[in-house]
Amino acid sequence: MTIKDFHNSENYMDFVNHEKLMPDKNGYYGNYGGAYIPDKLKPAFAEITEAYQKIAHSAEFISELRRIRREFQGRPTPLTHCKNLSNKFGSCQIYLKREDLNHTGAHKLNHCMGEALLAKYMGKKKIIAETGAGSHGVALATAAAFFGLECDVYMGEVDIEKQHPNVIRMEMLGTKVIPVTHGQKTLKEAVDAAFDAYSKEYKDCIYCIGSVVGPHPFPLIVRDFQAVVGAEALEQFKSTTGLLPDTVCACIGGGSNSIGMFIPFLDQPVNIVGVEPMGRGKAVGDNAASMEFGSEGILHGFKSIVQIDDKGEAQPVYSIAPGLDYPGVGPEHAYLRDKGRVTYDYVTDEEAMTAFFLLSKLEGIIPAVESAHAVAYAIKYAKQEKTGSILVNLSGRGDKDIDFVNREYGNGDKLLEKNVL
Ligand SMILES: *Cc1c(COP(=O)(O)O)cnc(C)c1O
Repeated sequence: MTIKDFHNSENYMDFVNHEKLMPDKNGYYGNYGGAYIPDKLKPAFAEITEAYQKIAHSAEFISELRRIRREFQGRPTPLTHCKNLSNKFGSCQIYLKREDLNHTGAHKLNHCMGEALLAKYMGKKKIIAETGAGSHGVALATAAAFFGLECDVYMGEVDIEKQHPNVIRMEMLGTKVIPVTHGQKTLKEAVDAAFDAYSKEYKDCIYCIGSVVGPHPFPLIVRDFQAVVGAEALEQFKSTTGLLPDTVCACIGGGSNSIGMFIPFLDQPVNIVGVEPMGRGKAVGDNAASMEFGSEGILHGFKSIVQIDDKGEAQPVYSIAPGLDYPGVGPEHAYLRDKGRVTYDYVTDEEAMTAFFLLSKLEGIIPAVESAHAVAYAIKYAKQEKTGSILVNLSGRGDKDIDFVNREYGNGDKLLEKNVL
């Protein structure tokens, strides 16, 4: 099924059937992607790739996933027209795809449910992953509970301390959170520990990644499961407005909510923009704008645009949004930028936080700080363009962020006074 066929099909959830998209059979999107992994992991990755091709394209798998999305996740999520926010800046109309209303409050469950269902069809008993801020861990723990799978989540001791509520959530859902106590005790060590466990246990389990990153086939699998977001949004936008949006945007951490939104729009006459975090400034360590400052390189087992030093180690990155501080982008994003099909822009912490409060106060929607980056871009766009429309992927809700935001910015009035009024 090509993208065009897909758009003409009633069954937009059948999107996983497409065959004309990248990557090639070795997992490359043009120059980027691939699988740079130790030999001991090769059998495990070959097994997942083969199983994914066979199982995830079967009618049985697709119909089960579609039913789960409807009955458990609450899909389709709505499309919301932000009249108040739009009116504030002229007549460009801002629309949100409401992934904050997906069960667990963000888009991540879309790929976690798919990955866990794949594990079940493969006859695996367990799924394993690492988590940094904990949101991937919580989504995966949810999926594991739903499917009756065991779940081991590797997490650095430092992150366990910082993200205590997410640790409690995972444990309540029946997941084993395994502290990683060596090195910096954060995400990097957790990735190593999870891959290590996977190479030993792959007969009984599969590894579930949290974004469109990592070695092939993960960027492909996660993209396909996330494409439901854009597929729904395209249908909904056309049926409510009779038109296409002029521009579609989404925030970029590793790039999963964005690629899911973008894929169904690639062959439509719309501008597509990925929004990266410029944090507190342009110095190394103050942002995570990999498209702006990164270059071609290999990190975490795949080739893409990444921020690494001379020794190939990840450079320090920062964003006020814990889900956006990744020192690279998924390989398909690098490819789409080279092709000129998607443009990448950035917003600062302050712009994102201003958008956070504007959306909360004008629309009654508290966004995740990650998603506020995409909203900030939409506001800038609306101010500049004055007409037309922009569709934003609101990747998650902000309940998880309110204590931190309140500590830093109070009720937001000062920030709004400075930047808006
Ligand atoms: C994890 C996360 C992101 C960033 O991840 P992507 O893979 O780039 O989508 C964005 N928004 C929310 C709410 C998240 O939890």
